[in-house]
This record gives sequence, C-alpha cells and structure tokens, in this order.
Amino acid sequence: MSSKLTCTRRFHFSYGHRLMNYDGPCSSLHGHNATVYVTVERKELNSLDMVVDFSVIKKKIGSWIDECWDHAFIYCQDDTAVMAALSCMGPTNKAFGIPGNPTAEVLARYLLEQVCPKVLADTGVKATSVIFFETDNCSARCSVAPAASPSSGLESVME
Ligand SMILES: [Zn+2]
Repeated sequence: MSSKLTCTRRFHFSYGHRLMNYDGPCSSLHGHNATVYVTVERKELNSLDMVVDFSVIKKKIGSWIDECWDHAFIYCQDDTAVMAALSCMGPTNKAFGIPGNPTAEVLARYLLEQVCPKVLADTGVKATSVIFFETDNCSARCSVAPAASPSSGLESVME
C-alpha cells in the first residue's frame, strides 16, 4: 500500500471585488473576509520528517497574499467600468487584475496554477489543492487533476 502525506495551511485576508455581467448583488462593489486552505505535498519526507515546515508555507504564500491580495480590490482585466473607477483612486489604492471574473473558483485556480508554482519553486513541495472560502458557508476548491486529465479540477461548495 502506498500512502501520501500532505500539509495544509490556512490563510485569512480581506479583499474587494465585483462580478462582471452578473445579475445580482455581487455585481456591486463589495468585499469579503476570505479564508484559504493551501495543501502541499512532497514525494518523500525531508530530513526533519516533514512535508514542509509550516513556517515556510506561511512565509512564501502568506507573504504573497499579504502583498498582492490583502485589502486589495481584485478585478477582472476585462472589466473596463471597474478599471475606470480604480484609475480615479490614485496610485496608493491597492488593486490586482486577473483574467476572468474574480469568483472564488477563479481565485482558487489562480492561487494554485499561477501563484503557488512561483512562490514554492525552491521549497521542494508542490501545491495540490486550494480551497477558497468566500464566506463561512461558500467555498470553491481547485485541485491538481489526475495525470490523464489536462487541467486542474474545479468544484464549488455551498453549505
Ligand atoms: Zn462577493
């Protein structure tokens, strides 16, 4: 029997967003207090019998979140209305553009596919799953897909 060991760290941050082309309250500018769970794995335990020191994950991923997303307005790069509004805010306003609507699904996938490979590059671990809680009750999960599947798998959960 083969087993797999993973480590997961939780992060909290606050952000603003709005959903483009959406018929509902989330089309307005608003914010969330997000909770994110990032799971990483390593083929073999390191010399300390760890997948990774939790402090390394905190430093690598937590620093990126603090710098780029915490208290930022996260917007779709095609959302010209929001970009016009943000341009009035001046250079001290924190904003972050992404491809796609800034849903929990897209933000989970962005962290797993774009951010984690870069910030974890020299750690020997690989992120395999990101669960993004937009609220306490609603989350999206993006996981590395099995080898036969070409891209990451996405699922949303609303409880
Ligand atoms: Zn929202």
